[in-house]
Amino acid sequence: MKKPVYFDYCANTPVDPSVLETYVKTASQCVGNANSVHAMGRASKAVMDDVLAKMAALLHVRPDEIILTSGATEANNLALKGIAAATRHVGKHIVSTSLEHSSISASLSMLQMEGYEIDLCPLTSDGTIDLEELADLVRDDTCLVSISLVDSEAGVIQPVKKIAEIVHSHPKTLLHMDATQAMGKIPVDFAIADTVSFAPHKFFGLNGCGVLIKHEHVPLVPQNSGGASTTLYRSGTPDPAMAAACLCALEKMYASLSNWQSHCEKLNAYLRRELTKIEGLKINSPDHAVPQILNISLHGYKGFEMQKALDEKGYCVSVKSACTSDYLPSHAVMALTKDRKRALESFRISLSPLTTMEECQGLAEAIREIHEGK
Ligand code: PLP
Repeated sequence: MKKPVYFDYCANTPVDPSVLETYVKTASQCVGNANSVHAMGRASKAVMDDVLAKMAALLHVRPDEIILTSGATEANNLALKGIAAATRHVGKHIVSTSLEHSSISASLSMLQMEGYEIDLCPLTSDGTIDLEELADLVRDDTCLVSISLVDSEAGVIQPVKKIAEIVHSHPKTLLHMDATQAMGKIPVDFAIADTVSFAPHKFFGLNGCGVLIKHEHVPLVPQNSGGASTTLYRSGTPDPAMAAACLCALEKMYASLSNWQSHCEKLNAYLRRELTKIEGLKINSPDHAVPQILNISLHGYKGFEMQKALDEKGYCVSVKSACTSDYLPSHAVMALTKDRKRALESFRISLSPLTTMEECQGLAEAIREIHEGK
């Protein structure tokens, strides 16, 4: 059977061989627990400290502002629940959007059950946050505003600088930025928000690793009970191998980001051109979305039906993000188009530097064939 062609890089990327090599090498080298005070513990701690120092330099943060987690889901849960618990004196009001990943929206639902008031800020027709509405929504008792820099379904980039200005005009309100879909696609400024999350498996790193940058001034209640790790905010035995693998993925990504972007721009332009020739096909991702994400709807086909039909032809695409149910309309496409049917018919093609023009030609042809009933 022909090897499936992958168009779901926003869900996961293949691990880079050098990342894997770094993991294996560091795991064999670091035998002691980095929290143990004996020689082998100290040796592991030295590796961990070195990795965190290099990672901090790369991200322009301090080493003690890095919290390593099991993924962006945990990083988002920790940021939202941890900040909410630590800022009760500010208030119990949180502002977010309808474009968030389920790790944000589900955390907000939990907080709502605990009595927090959650407002979702309206979006403009291009999917960006309506800044005037945001300015009206944020109050002195708003403890937190949470936004994703790039949303996972349509690839909309939020004007985070302006958002931060509005949020920080209220001195006690904190801004959490989910940068999971932004890392590896656009430059990310870690200084702009109070907490920032991401996961290296989105840019050729390993699964099971996430990062929360928590700037020094941010109060946070840990969500795991246990002893200190490399930080008080997330207990558990430090994992120098995972940290070193994450650093390796970050270094590779920063060295290649602009090439990755221009490669994906060419493929995205080709797909937009070819796919819009198909009758009834609409592009949902705005023109200014990241080139790696192309959300489309084909009239008459539910998104999951297209996913299945494409799967049968050997192409892997996704319906909404990988972590949500197939049978509900895409929140992002609903927000962008206000069209429930189109949102139900939507699916996501995601590209990477590994995607080739031949693969895109094959995908466009496969979509055309499905439309023509072949
Ligand atoms: N945030 C966004 C925007 C995502 O796209 C994802 C995963 O797709 C996550 C968070 C969760 O990431 P993880 O799978 O590392 O928990």
